[in-house]
Amino acid sequence: NKTIILSSRPKGTPTQDNFEFTQTDVATIEEGEVLLKALYISVDPYMRGRMSDVKSYVAPYEVGKPIMGGVVAEVLESKNEKLQKGAVVVGNLPWQQYVVHNGKGLNPIDPDMAPLSYHLGILGMPGLTAYFGLLHIGQPKEGETVVVSGAAGAVGTVVGQIAKLKGCRVVGIAGSDDKIEYLVNELGFDEGINYKTTVNINEAVAKACPDGVDVYFDNVGGEISDAVYHALNKFSRIAICGQIAFYNNTSPATGLRVEPILLKKSVLMKGFIVNDYTSEFGHAAKELTTWLQEGKLQYQESVKEGFEQIPEAFLGLFSGENTGKQLVKVAER
Ligand code: NDP
Repeated sequence: NKTIILSSRPKGTPTQDNFEFTQTDVATIEEGEVLLKALYISVDPYMRGRMSDVKSYVAPYEVGKPIMGGVVAEVLESKNEKLQKGAVVVGNLPWQQYVVHNGKGLNPIDPDMAPLSYHLGILGMPGLTAYFGLLHIGQPKEGETVVVSGAAGAVGTVVGQIAKLKGCRVVGIAGSDDKIEYLVNELGFDEGINYKTTVNINEAVAKACPDGVDVYFDNVGGEISDAVYHALNKFSRIAICGQIAFYNNTSPATGLRVEPILLKKSVLMKGFIVNDYTSEFGHAAKELTTWLQEGKLQYQESVKEGFEQIPEAFLGLFSGENTGKQLVKVAER
């Protein structure tokens, strides 16, 4: 029974050395417990924050303890009346092949509704993040221009597609020509900007947004965001979802002071955590499911196979290896 523990805290960009594989016995279950087999393990950028010993909205991982995160798992054995053997659940679980659990906080999922892995992506945390950040904070209106950074990732792909459903012009910023081609040709984005090859990103944003920017959904921060700020319209809205450009920094970032722009353009800027909207998850998940079933949303995953691949899949988030949601498939159901 393999487990991945945090063996040391990263200084700057994380490496394989920060993770260690250990073996544990599979415990026998007691009354009220279930034995789970991990099927899909999610790797997410926020985990980088938890690897550091800093106060944030979730507690840091402990050195020597398993990394935890979103996992889809099958109930192999059950002494818990609420979870039958054979059920599939999604929950916050350790990076471990087999886990004994008391069932608290596990959400059963319907295997007939959508592929199981979707509950870690478009129908799970990233999809909900896109939904609330765009619709509640961005409030896009028909004919407006929406820019999304980190556009080809788990959250960004959903943001852009929902903005298209709302009748907006959508511009995505991402890190490769293949990603831009995917956004424009497969997902229906109006334009894409490859920030890695574009020499003058300010000009590229201005050109892609001839009527200015009404909504900016920010997944990355840094110089990409600075370029978008210069193109903001009066009464525009900014949803601060992620700042991945800074997650591996070892000293505080400096850059554009945005306040004069926010003031002159009456801009609304708001940071958020998806869990701010917990009470509304049910309704949002239903709407995302409907859009998906009606073919109004496309969905892509980057899936690595095998438990051993988990650290590499995680590290790849910071070099942009994934298109869509990055997952690791660790077992068949
Ligand atoms: P993604 O699937 O988008 O994966 C991360 C992507 O970020 C990479 O593929 C890469 O794409 C891009 N990236 C990596 N480093 C940089 C950099 N230095 N500058 C610009 N882009 C970079 O991840 P998610 O969709 O899961 O998450 C997207 C963002 O949203 C993250 O910042 C995450 O922390 C945040 N988030 C926030 C939540 C909230 O509740 N507020 C919930 C979920 C996610 P590329 O090739 O384009 O560089």
